[in-house]
Amino acid sequence: MSLGCDLSVLEELTSNAKQIQDDVLTKILKANANTEYLSRFLEGSSDKELFKKNVPVVSYEDVKPYIDRVANGEPSDIISGEPITTFNRSSGTSSGNQKIYPTNNIYFENLLFGYALSSVVMSKHVDGYKQGKMMIFRFTHKISPTPCGLPIAPALTSFTKSKYYSTMAKNNTSPYEVALCPDPKQSMYCQLLCGLVHRDEVVSVGTTFPSVLVQIVHFLENYWKELSSNIRSGHVSDWITDLSCRDSVSIILGEPNAELADLIEKECGQESWQGIIKRLWPKTKCIETIVTGTMSQHIPALDYYSNKLPLVSKVYASSEVFYGLNLNPLSKPQHVSYTFLPNMSYFEFIRVDADGEDTSEIVDLVDVTLGYYYEPLVTNYSGLHRCRVGDVLQVTGFYNNTPQFRFVRRNNTVLCVDVEPTTEEDILKALARATVVLESSDFILTGFTCYGDISTVPGHYVFYLEVKAKVNNGTNVLQLDNKVLVECCCIMEESLSSLYRRLRGDEGSIGALEIRVVQQGTFDSLMEFFLSRGSSISQYKTPICIKSTEALKLLEDKVLARFFSDRSPTL
Ligand code: AMP
Repeated sequence: MSLGCDLSVLEELTSNAKQIQDDVLTKILKANANTEYLSRFLEGSSDKELFKKNVPVVSYEDVKPYIDRVANGEPSDIISGEPITTFNRSSGTSSGNQKIYPTNNIYFENLLFGYALSSVVMSKHVDGYKQGKMMIFRFTHKISPTPCGLPIAPALTSFTKSKYYSTMAKNNTSPYEVALCPDPKQSMYCQLLCGLVHRDEVVSVGTTFPSVLVQIVHFLENYWKELSSNIRSGHVSDWITDLSCRDSVSIILGEPNAELADLIEKECGQESWQGIIKRLWPKTKCIETIVTGTMSQHIPALDYYSNKLPLVSKVYASSEVFYGLNLNPLSKPQHVSYTFLPNMSYFEFIRVDADGEDTSEIVDLVDVTLGYYYEPLVTNYSGLHRCRVGDVLQVTGFYNNTPQFRFVRRNNTVLCVDVEPTTEEDILKALARATVVLESSDFILTGFTCYGDISTVPGHYVFYLEVKAKVNNGTNVLQLDNKVLVECCCIMEESLSSLYRRLRGDEGSIGALEIRVVQQGTFDSLMEFFLSRGSSISQYKTPICIKSTEALKLLEDKVLARFFSDRSPTL
């Protein structure tokens, strides 16, 4: 697929969604009807009605044995008519469990097409977008082989290393070699250095997901003196030992530039880092990073560091498939919807009722109903058939004939210490209320996760928060106000479900909600912990709820203070 797509392509796709979905399913069935997996249900037929009648709705765990067989060396056509060329290692999501998805070039072509179309949409909404430079941080990882020798890597690593990516990187502040550097620390340093050198041309700053962007600002806090000294001397630090990275960055760094070095020192040396992104990159018009769903927890920190530049969630995509685009990229995070692209895969939707329970109703893309909640089922070109993706979306409107969805949450209960099903959405709402209390007391939230502690009787919710004073008091010692944090505990409980409040209040089967404030840098260490376990830096999302005992230990070792709600929530 060529990069030369324009808005007329979008009009065509969204106006003919039904026909396009029909054609996509025909193509997939023709290619896959004889796979071992599908022939069990279809006996070689590529009839669409038979497909819907006979092929079961499955979850990843149901197809995992087939996927593992291919990864272990059996032929691709167990699951896919198109040869499998790569496995995408997904970040897992809520709980941090990783999965591998078979894939092939059609996935990467779709990714390229989706990103290219989203750039066209950005150019329409952001003046000067095309003319300026992007400081979009990209990272890649070592690609390890499966037992059969096929590469296995996070989707964004495989994509960035593929022939498809290079055209996309043209306007980036950093050369391609830097994104290919396997050491994330060297890569991050060099991407910042290049970004600083190009500071006057940068119109957009971003990462795919925001945990990394927050970490990059923390990294800048630790390295700005060294970065400015490199700019002053025109010499890249000696610890940048990756040669192709070093050589390409040295060219960009060029001659010594004392004026720029002075400016960086003046801005970074101020007591407050409020608006640091806008101060260092003054022409930046937006922050491109996904802040819908669990990622909304990073909005306060990004608002603070960027002085409330628009936060742009451009696309909705996963290791399984590219779903869709945000056609109003400058809309506020809470109003973001994604318009599905009907050419990406065959999409069906299983309806989820108000309590989060499945109904048996399954509908096609064009038949979803405004306001209803659904979980998408994906049938793609690389072996997934009617596979649940685990996300819950709500229909917010239609663009031509194609539905638009708000990302609601992952479809599972993340916290439960008694019988209450507390979802990601519940937790994020509670957190948003606590954030307001923190902000009015001049703190910003820079990290968050939680877990259900059932070692106490009754069990209770524990929220780990990393906070930072808006203005540095010169000592780097965080002065916590007991009243403010207890109020945060109470206000979070008030916003949880009525069942939670009843169990916590009248029935006493849930204990007082607890906040544990952790040291600065704890969430950077948590990210490093997950990266050391094979998570991808580009796709990393702070788990909303921690299950790993080692990760919990890491957090526990950094607890500075504990606070408990001191009253029962109202019923
Ligand atoms: P991965 O397979 O590691 O790329 O993770 C994919 C998952 O990330 C999706 O299933 C979603 O849960 C989440 N995700 C991806 N894009 C978005 C988005 N725009 N908004 C909210 N969550 C997203």
